[in-house]
Amino acid sequence: MFDAIVIGAGSAGCVTASRLSASGMRTLLVEAGPRRLSLWQKLPLGVGKALHDPQRVWLDQCESSEMLNGRSLQWHAGRGSGGSSSVNGMLAVRGDPALYNELQNYGINGWSYTECLPYFTALERVRFDAAQLRGHHGPIDIRRLDKTKYCEAFHGAFNALGIESRDVYNTNDATGVYQLQLTAGQYVRSDASQYLTKISDQRYLTILHDTVADHLLVKNNEIIGVELIIKGVAREVRSAKNVFLCLGAVRTPQILEKSGIGNPHYIQAAGISVTHRLDAVGENLRDHLMVRQTFEGKFKETINDLFKSKLFLATQGARYLFGRSPCLLNTSSLLATAFVPDSTTSSHPRFRVQLGLGSAESRLSIDLKSGIDAYSGFHIGVYDISPKSVGSVHIKRKDGDLIPRITPSYLTDSSDISRLKRGFEFISLLAEQKSLRETYSRRTRPLENIGNSTLLMEYFSRSAHTCWHPVGTCRMGKGESDSVTASDGRVHGMRNLFIYDASIYPFHTSSNTNLPVLMAAEKLVHKFLGLTNKEFQN
Ligand SMILES: Cc1cc2nc3c(=O)[nH]c(=O)nc-3n(C[C@H](O)[C@H](O)[C@H](O)COP(=O)(O)OP(=O)(O)OC[C@H]3O[C@@H](n4cnc5c(N)ncnc54)[C@H](O)[C@@H]3O)c2cc1C
Repeated sequence: MFDAIVIGAGSAGCVTASRLSASGMRTLLVEAGPRRLSLWQKLPLGVGKALHDPQRVWLDQCESSEMLNGRSLQWHAGRGSGGSSSVNGMLAVRGDPALYNELQNYGINGWSYTECLPYFTALERVRFDAAQLRGHHGPIDIRRLDKTKYCEAFHGAFNALGIESRDVYNTNDATGVYQLQLTAGQYVRSDASQYLTKISDQRYLTILHDTVADHLLVKNNEIIGVELIIKGVAREVRSAKNVFLCLGAVRTPQILEKSGIGNPHYIQAAGISVTHRLDAVGENLRDHLMVRQTFEGKFKETINDLFKSKLFLATQGARYLFGRSPCLLNTSSLLATAFVPDSTTSSHPRFRVQLGLGSAESRLSIDLKSGIDAYSGFHIGVYDISPKSVGSVHIKRKDGDLIPRITPSYLTDSSDISRLKRGFEFISLLAEQKSLRETYSRRTRPLENIGNSTLLMEYFSRSAHTCWHPVGTCRMGKGESDSVTASDGRVHGMRNLFIYDASIYPFHTSSNTNLPVLMAAEKLVHKFLGLTNKEFQN
């Protein structure tokens, strides 16, 4: 008999299972992927390789996007201990206080930035910033990256445009240019499974790896069990008081629909009986869409140079071993970032701009053969932090299985197109500033004149890519007609079913989603256990 079943050992699931079991609740944590992280997951720069490991990632092919000229984007998500936090870019961004404060306009109470703060500090272990607003004793290491020559030039270009360099973000985020903070310690990634290794008394936690939760057994608005697939064999776990879904923004709506919970239109079309009608399941899918420019750099200090020069590789290897910074092996290739307003509308940050010390045809290139440019390359990327376009995730049948049909609907809201164009024009202007201009010999993507709006759209269609930040598909809200969960994560109309993962945010509260998800799980499990802040943090 378990007091709780948590499905998914990703960012939200690790927090939830660790806090529940630490409180003495007998907890079963079910995870589809493996227990151990590979070397490529641990080494920060290994993320490129990790994303090609089919054992450790879910690889989903989205429906084709009309506004991307029919292109179908590939989405990745982590599979195994730590979930997506074990294959992500490690960028640690809490988000914009104003966006958290906006949640209350959607009937979501208790989520103002001030109310979220204790849970951010509970999860962080920050050594570079002694500010009280930061956490210093949590399970997740956060490190700040040092500047290289390219970073200095990037900062200089922003400064020339009147945007200040600042020391640290994640306190009161404001317009500015910064060195990135990573969820990593001195040598290795700090993924959410850190939560599980830090439980002092493991007696209350049972973890099943390589086990897929297929669907929930629902009776009279209550979950009475879960059907698991262990090594190809179906097995029911019947005894659980409460069930917590932490499968991520794509697979949480999938398991709900497979269990008959959702919009009858999609459930019945898949040949499943409806157990509980909730029309918002799988709707309101939001993601960040990134566009980039690449450059041939003059300093041989980029990821590309690791492949071209054995000497550079050896020097970086030595820096890594001796803990010297900056060191590219200790990054995901991204080093600096800026929060920039959309000048035509307000002074509030709307764009996220980032500098990556690598250039390639695709974000997934891992060596010269697979598309990393054979010159010292860097890129500057930009995306809109609050896109308006919304898509959906619903189940579809393929080869006998019910898999998620992901329709991202990028750029279908016309304001997103004009905003992304302005963001792109901004990075063109940035690249023209003297300090940056002196670091490269030519721009390599796009090559053509991009002043023309049609050409710009063509460039977006062939090159824009996901930032892997899906949220919104089981959003919190006031009631059944417009949302899936209440502001405490409880699924509307269900007695013992909760959702704590990325799917609950109705919109992006941040440019990156991992810290917001870890924080949300901390906050929700705290609420569920009825602990005070002090009891919780001890
Ligand atoms: C490539 C990539 C790069 C990213 N970069 C960043 C970044 O730099 N910074 C940032 O803040 N965010 C980043 N993100 C996003 C961030 O990591 C995610 O938003 C966050 O980890 C989501 O947490 P989650 O708990 O909702 O889901 P996940 O962490 O994805 O966890 C879901 C877990 O559920 C398991 N699961 C799914 N289905 C089943 C099933 N049926 N049975 C059992 N288990 C199941 C999965 O295997 C997985 O372990 C990135 C994501 C990706 C994929």
